[in-house]
Amino acid sequence: MIILAIAIDIFLILLSLKYAWWYPSISKKKTRIMMYHMISDQVADSKKSGLRVSEQMFEKHLKYFTDNDWKFIKMSELNKYNDDAKVVAITFDDGYLDNYKTAFPLLKKYNACATLYLVIDRHDNDWSVKKNSKHNTGILAKEEKLTDGQIAEMVDSDIFELGGHTISHPFLPNLTIEEKENEIISCKTILENKFNTKVTSFAYPFGIYAQEDVQIIKNSSFESAVTTDEGVVSLDSIYELKRVKASGKDNFFAFKLRVKKGFRGFI
Ligand SMILES: [Zn+2]
Repeated sequence: MIILAIAIDIFLILLSLKYAWWYPSISKKKTRIMMYHMISDQVADSKKSGLRVSEQMFEKHLKYFTDNDWKFIKMSELNKYNDDAKVVAITFDDGYLDNYKTAFPLLKKYNACATLYLVIDRHDNDWSVKKNSKHNTGILAKEEKLTDGQIAEMVDSDIFELGGHTISHPFLPNLTIEEKENEIISCKTILENKFNTKVTSFAYPFGIYAQEDVQIIKNSSFESAVTTDEGVVSLDSIYELKRVKASGKDNFFAFKLRVKKGFRGFI
């Protein structure tokens, strides 16, 4: 009996740490930047399940924001709202094909918009090994990526805007200053010229960066940069913006908790 009581207590403590529903909400006037990668079903044996939010769940997210009067913005509009409105920026990293096939029609349906942080050399590029050579499953490399034609259509629709995410998705700490400058500055010019658009925001590959990278971003006339640190927007850190992670491992309750407080829980 005592063992059962202890087991129940441990379960409740773990549940409470996982969801932290008791943690105070953050004012809705602080912008939420949502971080997505793929909108797709889970695949067997994938270690990247957190990166895949299902189509049904993504639609639930969009419906939640719409029903609760959140205004969708693109990252270039961030400064317009200055902490006095209830706004959300949907962002996608890397450039997966499902962003066109699945996310694009849903964004249209909900009158929403999004920012796509696009890798220029995204085809046949296994960037997960650049961070950790043990990550050599090739899962992300096999994942189909967007074609330039699809991206042009997404940008021309005015539903998507593009953000920089480097040329090859390198692990920035491994690069020299010159290599970093090339990855960061060139990706902006290439995107702007290829898609005849303005690129004002940047996402650090793997969310890993140093202060010298922040300096390069500032000098490259980017207006903002996002990390993978979890939280809501603080306009004081416009080049190190936190995002709210949309995880494929989450249920809808967990998603709502993340929007409320910027993160889900402590474990
Ligand atoms: Zn990335």
